[in-house]
Amino acid sequence: MRLEELGEFGFLARLRDRLGGSAPGVVLGSGDDAAVLLWEGGKYLLVTTDAVVEGRHFRRQWFTEREIGERAARAALSDLAAMGGLPRGLFASLALSPELSVEAAEALAEGLEAGAAACGCHLLGGDLAASPGPLFIDVVAVGETEAYWPRSGAQPGDAVLVSGSLGASAAALALLERGVAPAHLPPTLRRRFLCPEPAFDVVQALQPLGKVTAAIDISDGLVADLGHLAAASAAQICLRADRVPLAAEVRAAARQMGGDAAALALTSGEEYELAFTVPRVAVEGVQRALAEAAARPVTVIGEVRAGRGLVVEGGPPLPAGGWDHFSARE
Ligand SMILES: [Mg+2]
Repeated sequence: MRLEELGEFGFLARLRDRLGGSAPGVVLGSGDDAAVLLWEGGKYLLVTTDAVVEGRHFRRQWFTEREIGERAARAALSDLAAMGGLPRGLFASLALSPELSVEAAEALAEGLEAGAAACGCHLLGGDLAASPGPLFIDVVAVGETEAYWPRSGAQPGDAVLVSGSLGASAAALALLERGVAPAHLPPTLRRRFLCPEPAFDVVQALQPLGKVTAAIDISDGLVADLGHLAAASAAQICLRADRVPLAAEVRAAARQMGGDAAALALTSGEEYELAFTVPRVAVEGVQRALAEAAARPVTVIGEVRAGRGLVVEGGPPLPAGGWDHFSARE
C-alpha cells in the first residue's frame, strides 16, 4: 500500500500502535502538538518538530529565502503555544541544493533566527545536508510550561474558543495559486500567510488562570483540528460556524474568487491561531484576562458535549476531510 492510499492520519495511527513505549520523565509522547517531559522545578519541557518542503508548503518564486526561514520558525513554534508553553529555543536542519548561493543559504538561516527572535527565543543549532532536489527544512522547537494544555482534556459543558480570526492563510494561498504576485496580495493576507503570529500572548494571559482544559493550534484547518481535539478528548464538539471570526480581507478575496468566505475560514490550514476549551463559567474571566494583557481577542465558537466527533451547525457545505499531507492535493 502506498502512503497516499493510507493518508497521513491513517499512517500516524498505524505508527502509534507500534510506538507506544515510554521512558522515565516522559509525561506525554506522540499524538499531541508537542511531547511533554518532566523538567526541573516542577516545570515541563516541550519538544516538537515541523518539516517544510519546497513545492508542497511553498514555492520558491513566491518568497525570499529569508521569508521562507522566518515562516518555518514561526510555524514550528506555534505548537508550543498549542501546549500552553513559551519558547526556549529552536534547532533547524536544512537540506540545500549545492547550487544554492551562499547568500540565499544565509538568508534562510537569518529568517529562522528572525522568526525565533520574534517569539522570544533563538536558533540554538541544527544540521546541514545536501539535497538532490527541493529545499527541505526541519525545525525542532523547545519550550517550557508549568501546566501543559493537552488535546485530551475537553469536558462536556466546556466552551470552545478560537483566538484571532481565520481564513487569511487559505485566501492568500488561493490567490497565489491563481497567479496573483506575492507583492500584490492584500496586506493582511500577505502578512498572515508569511508571518503567522503564534499565540504566545494568549498563553501568557491565560496560564495564570489555570482554566484551559484542552488546546490545539490550527494547522490543518479549524474543522479538522477541532475533530482532532474531539477525538483526543473522547467528546463531541459542536461548532457554530456562523460565529467563527473572519480575518480582514477574506470576504473580499472570497468574492473575487467566487468562493465562500466562511468555508475558507473553517478549512484554512496554517493559521496558527489557538482553538481551546475552558469551563463555560470561566469564559468571562478569560475575556477579562486577555483584555487586561492587551492580548489578541478570542471568540466562543461552540461547546463540548457528551458523544463523539465534530458537529458543524450554521455553516456552508464543506469539502470532506481536512488537510492531509499525503493526499494528492497540492
Ligand atoms: Mg499543532
